[in-house]
Amino acid sequence: MIDHARYAAAAREAVIAASIVCQEVQDNLDQVRAMTKDDKSPVTIADLASQAIVGMVLKQKLGEDLHLVAEEDSVFLRDEDNTLYLDATVAAVKGVWEDATEQKVLDAIDLGAGDTDHHAFWTLDPIDGTKGFLRNQQYAVALGFIENGTPTIGVMGCPNLPVNLSKPFDIRDEHGCLYMAIQGNGVYESASDDVNAEIIRITRLDHLEDEEISVCASVEKSHTNMSDTDRILQWIQDQGLGHMGEPVRLDSQCKYAVVARGQADAYLRLPTKKPYVERIWDHAAGACIASESGAFVTDIFGRNLDFSCGRGLENNKGIVCAPPRIHGLLLAAIKELGIGQDQSTD
Ligand code: AMP
Ligand code: MG
Repeated sequence: MIDHARYAAAAREAVIAASIVCQEVQDNLDQVRAMTKDDKSPVTIADLASQAIVGMVLKQKLGEDLHLVAEEDSVFLRDEDNTLYLDATVAAVKGVWEDATEQKVLDAIDLGAGDTDHHAFWTLDPIDGTKGFLRNQQYAVALGFIENGTPTIGVMGCPNLPVNLSKPFDIRDEHGCLYMAIQGNGVYESASDDVNAEIIRITRLDHLEDEEISVCASVEKSHTNMSDTDRILQWIQDQGLGHMGEPVRLDSQCKYAVVARGQADAYLRLPTKKPYVERIWDHAAGACIASESGAFVTDIFGRNLDFSCGRGLENNKGIVCAPPRIHGLLLAAIKELGIGQDQSTD
């Protein structure tokens, strides 16, 4: 039997340690150069240091039977031409892991090379929203635990997200927030940089029918279809079912937390023209947290997210995350406008 409380506590400790290191690297951002991966997305020493720390802490706390599927690998750092990056990664890790060595760090990164064939495994995005990280804006250390295709534990460090809902998203916060959820147990919030910080249970405020519907979406234009987002909100308004608000743009799966804490009414991720399969580590932690807040999390066709197809959400298209009434409105608008009809996987 899995002790979910023990697993979640270990995950929280791992994510806080990694978040602290990410913040330290970000304090010296002018010295951080982004490397570019084969898919042209950026990765930094903070991504690699974060993955090493989460792997190391989970291994230490949960022992031998660790199955971790993480976004990064150690190939780049093992290349002799990149020893400067390896040195910088080890130096960053040492902020929380004093006896780290090159070998230990490389091995810890490689703990993330697990496969998805187990009935239960962890999935990690060591820095989700690297582009936000590089802009000094929002990013997340996102760790989810998947059992039989469903995320049952979600822990997400949002090191730049202010706890105060009236503060803007684009200004770095001193402590940041951490969100934690275990299936069936609600959502818990604490600071992202202190294991001993107070943990409180949060409940999202209900959306009032006469309030504007606020939707959050990616900053990166290639990650979501903003004109379809506008069409959906316009349709809802034209039907007299709600008032459209100006979409809020922020990077990473912090968007799920922003819905979970009632700061936005929805997170929409709509397919662009270029076919794309969502990655499990971009959604496992966030979807668990938003679901536990009472939001529905599905794809644009109303299907549950299916985390049982390997590293991609092969059976899904896009994301619609919102509390039930708004979720229903969004799905109705998507259907009515024929959004994604050319992308159905049925
Ligand atoms: P966000 O910060 O919400 O824009 O999401 C960042 C994530 O988008 C990254 O971690 C990538 O895995 C993912 N991503 C990369 N390319 C695409 C794409 N074409 N469509 C949707 N998501 C993408
Ligand atoms: Mg990501």
